[in-house]
Amino acid sequence: MSAETTAPRPTGIGEGRGECQTTLKCDSRLTTAQQEVIQQAPPKYRKLVRQALQGATSPRRAIQANCLTCTHYDVAQIRECVVLRCTVHAYRPYQRDKV
Ligand code: SF4
Repeated sequence: MSAETTAPRPTGIGEGRGECQTTLKCDSRLTTAQQEVIQQAPPKYRKLVRQALQGATSPRRAIQANCLTCTHYDVAQIRECVVLRCTVHAYRPYQRDKV
């Protein structure tokens, strides 16, 4: 056996689908589940979701990503959210820019 043989990776780490559907570079530090969340996001929100999962954005933007994933990217639902027991409810985005 070659000395270059690598040890198997722990489950869920760096196990993407082989092809990342996002236009952004895949990050082996994200789990398969995290990469799926990014791939399922509408293209306009993928960068935001990726940065939130990586801890590479502000808390405000992370809350925005959290609310977007919570509502399956429905801004109107976030604006009208009535889940007062949610710990980020008071900080949810889209409260001022009503259309
Ligand atoms: S505030 Fe509402 S939309 Fe945002 S995470 Fe909480 S329950 Fe979901």
